[in-house]
Amino acid sequence: MKTRHLGKTGLQVPVLGFGTSPLGSMFSEVDEQDGIRTVHEVLDLSINFIDTAPLYGPLKAEIILGKALKDVPRDSYLLSTKAGRYKWTEYDFTSEGIVLSLEESLQRLNTDYVDIFQLHDIEYTSLEEVAEICIPTLQRLKQQGKIRFYGVTGFPMKTFRYILENAEIDTMLSYCHYSLNNTTLLDLLPLVKEKNVGLMSASPLSMGLLSKKGVPFWHPADEEIKELASKAIRFCEERGENLEKLALQFSVQNEQIPVTLVGSTNPKNIRRNIAWIEEPINDDLLKQVQEILKPIHNRCWSSGRPEN
Ligand code: NAD
Repeated sequence: MKTRHLGKTGLQVPVLGFGTSPLGSMFSEVDEQDGIRTVHEVLDLSINFIDTAPLYGPLKAEIILGKALKDVPRDSYLLSTKAGRYKWTEYDFTSEGIVLSLEESLQRLNTDYVDIFQLHDIEYTSLEEVAEICIPTLQRLKQQGKIRFYGVTGFPMKTFRYILENAEIDTMLSYCHYSLNNTTLLDLLPLVKEKNVGLMSASPLSMGLLSKKGVPFWHPADEEIKELASKAIRFCEERGENLEKLALQFSVQNEQIPVTLVGSTNPKNIRRNIAWIEEPINDDLLKQVQEILKPIHNRCWSSGRPEN
């Protein structure tokens, strides 16, 4: 698998990383043994970067990962987890909460450190507190050797801009902002580059929007976005093409985005994703699909506190 440099962390990461929200049954119910087998398959396929969080399940994804990684040499994979968000509406971004969350994650994950530790969806708290309280807490954890690098995740672009301008971070994770229907992340790339922050972009399929399986019940996109995504899926199918393939290829090809996170509990999907990104993108199909999605291009949904 091709790798890229993750900003100031110096880590080499595979262009395709494994996201574990599906392991936490966030798209459909997952059996624990199947989940463990999927993790082993992912590592066998040279995807050695895994992103998780206590929110996924809640806790289920970390528990499955802990069992799957128990006998795997710790230096053969990079592990990223998060703190601050625990259920759809349960948050704790206090300093004590973050420290406790890391301790609990380390236990579940069967390890004594994580490579990357991030504040999960910071738009749900005060950004001033993130900069003044949470990030100093992460710095202390880094000094203690419990985490190698730290950063933030979230949805609204302006929250990242605020943190990049007002705090020191190693990494950031954006989602649903670099895919066929939304390329808003491009506006942030100059600042990310200037600060040399390790950028992760998640959800090339826009959390299922661009996949035949369709969206989970909690997907926040409006009806027009869902309708045009379905139209793009049908358009590809009628031509013997595959929108998932185009979406994966599109998201991974930008050299300024070191790693794209995609999740699936189905090893067949993971193998297909790896094979697809090796193939050249069909530029004509890309133009036609972008034309279909044009009316909703860059359209977002709200997430977090109104002021963020
Ligand atoms: P995604 O866009 O990768 O979509 C996942 C869905 O697509 C799943 O239903 C999966 O089964 C399906 N899928 C994957 N490959 C497929 C294929 N080849 N064919 C058909 N369907 C396929 O969205 P995601 O899982 O939400 O994002 C990836 C990861 O990024 C997450 O698991 C998580 O680790 C991370 N993430 C983090 C945040 C955050 O920190 N706020 C937000 C979103 C995602």
